[in-house]
Amino acid sequence: MNKIPDLKDLLAWLSSKSIEFSSNVPLSQFSWFKTGGITDVIVFPDSKYTLSICISWIREAGLNFKVVGETSNLIFLDDIDYGILISTTKINSLYYTADSCLITADCGVLLPVLSRYALSLSAKGFEGLEGIPGTVGAGVFMNAGAYGDEIKDVIESVDVILPSGDIKTYLFDDLKLAHRNSIFRLKTNDEIIISACFKVEFCDSFAIYNRMSLFHSKRHKYQEFMYPTLGSVYSSSVYRALAKKNIWFKFVSSVYYLVFYKWKIFRREAPDNRKWLNDFTVSQFGISYKNQPFSNKDMNTLINNGHHTDEILNYIDQLNRIIGSDIMIENEIVEKF
Ligand SMILES: Cc1cc2nc3c(=O)[nH]c(=O)nc-3n(C[C@H](O)[C@H](O)[C@H](O)COP(=O)(O)OP(=O)(O)OC[C@H]3O[C@@H](n4cnc5c(N)ncnc54)[C@H](O)[C@@H]3O)c2cc1C
Repeated sequence: MNKIPDLKDLLAWLSSKSIEFSSNVPLSQFSWFKTGGITDVIVFPDSKYTLSICISWIREAGLNFKVVGETSNLIFLDDIDYGILISTTKINSLYYTADSCLITADCGVLLPVLSRYALSLSAKGFEGLEGIPGTVGAGVFMNAGAYGDEIKDVIESVDVILPSGDIKTYLFDDLKLAHRNSIFRLKTNDEIIISACFKVEFCDSFAIYNRMSLFHSKRHKYQEFMYPTLGSVYSSSVYRALAKKNIWFKFVSSVYYLVFYKWKIFRREAPDNRKWLNDFTVSQFGISYKNQPFSNKDMNTLINNGHHTDEILNYIDQLNRIIGSDIMIENEIVEKF
């Protein structure tokens, strides 16, 4: 402990303000993917005001920190001990204003909670967010989305804390939201998202419910649930990217897709894992590992099967080298900060 000189002062200040924190936390127990070394302290502010005073104190002390939500997109490395994390998960007010037809959500509201709240108001466009296990703050940060619905389709404005401590409101056009990207992802921890407003467009609630149910059941079929996992490594299909690199793989994977997923020749349902195709991919591209670091359901999904994170990085590195710079990596590898 006390790798950071002012850490004792920080802990004393947090206690004096009755702000919740945990010190000396093994990230392999705390983080979503169950990886990472020890982190000195995780602070849990429970309001936007508390978040802002924590950030001011830490910045004035000249300490580095990282704001996190549920950590569902983060790969903390096993050999790194980290410093200060500020978790937004306890900052979660959520309400609807009828006059302006807007939902206001604090940064720590979970996307599934926001999506179900929208259903209760018969507001459309949030259905695809129902299965994304992250927070609104991070959802805006990387324009989270699934099944054709993205944050950018429903967002109106975002409030942030600037490095100066002032609050700024960004309107839609300023946010530069694109596929898994925003103005915030281009900066590094400079501006902290504290809340976001979402527009409400009413629709038949039965239609909304049906879309949500469909996406929910698809996730249960195609998403990894047994091992600690993250979302996709790449923001588009890894098989399609690999097919561009090897004509024989392209032929075999296209036939596999047509037979099992499109025409469903052998069963009425598509298989819920691609083990055969994954084994073929591994042999075709010479991908090596000690302990399989990806899900049988999709090679684009990492699993933690007791691996050291070096094995995870090695797998990502091999894919990057095969695919080249064709597609962007979606998971964030958290370096020392
Ligand atoms: C099983 C599974 C399925 C998934 N499916 C999808 C999917 O379909 N679509 C999709 O888009 N993603 C998906 N993801 C990825 C992940 O859930 C999203 O990226 C989500 O937005 C991350 O939210 P989080 O709260 O966990 O953020 P974290 O992982 O904690 O943080 C992600 C980044 O956001 C930054 N950040 C967090 N909060 C703030 C804030 N308030 N202000 C500024 N920066 C902030 C962090 O510093 C970090 O850089 C999936 C993940 C899992 C585990």
